[in-house]
Amino acid sequence: MVSSQGDSYYIICEDLFKIYKIADLEVVALRGLDLKVKLGELMAIVGASGSGKTTLLNILGGLDIPTAGRVIVGKRDLLKMSSRDLVTYRRRDVGFVWQQVGGNLIPYLSALQNAELPLILLGWPQRKRRRRAEEMLEAVGLAARLRYRPDRLSGGEQQRVAIAVALANNPPLLLADEPTGELDSQTAESIFDVFRSLNEAYGVTIVIVTHDIRITDEVERVVTIRDGRTSLEAIREPRFPDAGPGRILDEFVVLDKAGRLQLPKDYIEKLNLKGRVRVLLADDHITVWPEESQKREDR
Ligand code: ADP
Ligand code: MG
Repeated sequence: MVSSQGDSYYIICEDLFKIYKIADLEVVALRGLDLKVKLGELMAIVGASGSGKTTLLNILGGLDIPTAGRVIVGKRDLLKMSSRDLVTYRRRDVGFVWQQVGGNLIPYLSALQNAELPLILLGWPQRKRRRRAEEMLEAVGLAARLRYRPDRLSGGEQQRVAIAVALANNPPLLLADEPTGELDSQTAESIFDVFRSLNEAYGVTIVIVTHDIRITDEVERVVTIRDGRTSLEAIREPRFPDAGPGRILDEFVVLDKAGRLQLPKDYIEKLNLKGRVRVLLADDHITVWPEESQKREDR
């Protein structure tokens, strides 16, 4: 664990870049992204399609390697790991839940067999893995569906199984990429409830990626990615059962290590800012003015 200012972070990303090269074309999926996630935190990353969310998750899960920057997960520096260590990391330290409801599960295996499968691959003895798989399916609310195959389960139930599978071997980190993308909003909410109760029961650190901003009602911290960079951060008051969405307590624009920040899009449009702007320092704050504004000293 990396400690800084008394906080213990499980994930630290600094100035992360990912550039995909297709023939002569370069696509910059992440451009200097910074992110810190505390141990045991349940947080969400939101952003428009194409903003770099999946790229970031793939990097955190050891499925992809950044072009530049720093990624620390637990004690590991993901950029310095051998490909063999990355395989072990993926198997033992990360659970994944994907958007494609069916894609998370093996169709001809029961819920129980699906949840046992990763434990077979890790060499767990039969009774131990059976007990663990049952425990996880109970934890996601599927105790009555152990013998059901995916095709007999609803979409929401299949995602619950997928979560049980992802957490079967008790990884410290759970990554979910648009886990409710194919579900209706009520089912989506119940899936977010499952994430929350697992986070509380097992202390697993959970990062949920979505472009559905309704998730912002469900977690305490939401980070917005825009153009491959973290741009906004909202903190909510903790939600109590049945209390409805927590109020947003504070909203921040993220200032990165290099001093860059992304102004909210609607502010830019309102003042028609482009190209160059004037940045003026006052005693305890900074103002930003359109380049052509003349009277700024008089105001
Ligand atoms: P999101 O998950 O937020 O929709 P992605 O991380 O999938 O965003 O994509 C970010 C950008 O990187 C997009 O412009 C996308 O087209 C590009 N991209 C993602 N994966 C690849 C890849 N394997 N090859 C080339 N470009 C990619
Ligand atoms: Mg995506």
